[in-house]
Amino acid sequence: MTARMRLQPADVGVGLTGQRVRDRLIEDLRNSGIADERVLNAIRTVPRHQFVDEVLASRAYENNALPIGFGQTISQPFVVAKMTEALLRDGPKKVLEVGTGSGYQAAVLAALGLEVFTVERIGELLRTARKRFRGLGLHVRSKHDDGRIGWPEEAPFDAIIVTAAGPALVEALLAQLAPGGVLVAPVGASSGQTLLCLRKQADGGIVQEELGAVVFVPLLSGMTD
Ligand code: SAH
Repeated sequence: MTARMRLQPADVGVGLTGQRVRDRLIEDLRNSGIADERVLNAIRTVPRHQFVDEVLASRAYENNALPIGFGQTISQPFVVAKMTEALLRDGPKKVLEVGTGSGYQAAVLAALGLEVFTVERIGELLRTARKRFRGLGLHVRSKHDDGRIGWPEEAPFDAIIVTAAGPALVEALLAQLAPGGVLVAPVGASSGQTLLCLRKQADGGIVQEELGAVVFVPLLSGMTD
């Protein structure tokens, strides 16, 4: 009994969510090709363990997606980093996210000083994410809606990030992109998608770049409580 207690120091939880494990994750991201120091800093700073259930907190700084309930997941840190890096390239100010989920991606964008708008179709996930934003003092505007319609009242956006996978690009979202703006979205089959980065030219034309293979949960229609 005593021996076991010695093996379980009171700060073990702190250790598994503390600076050392976060630094290890940052090294992992660097080795995977993430080079933007602003992105690495934001990921080091935002407490990912507060965006998952307590029982998963000790795994929050592993480079993996984790379940957040309702069949949804918090994206893998590498994918968050990759999408954020692509989105930051042209110095955006106003950003729309479709698929708030845990709120982690939105928090990373807010930590970078961006003006963040995020839309989630599952009410319960959004309520939990809002508590997290408040608890961390992050200013994020959010809406319970089908994000495939975007946020027309707030358009245009300098960047739009879609964190759920659809079979094709959503036209309404492209329409809400400012000239020079960038849209990052996984597009393809439910079993696996290509992460696309689209840039809207001043003349309205679109330049497309492929960022790699990803697997996201599906972009669904309608809303639920
Ligand atoms: N960015 C999230 C990832 C969550 S997973 C994070 O950092 O945790 C994708 C999320 O997209 C899920 O919460 C899912 O409910 C949501 N989603 C799927 N289709 C949607 C739609 N049409 N509108 C808004 N949110 C949607």
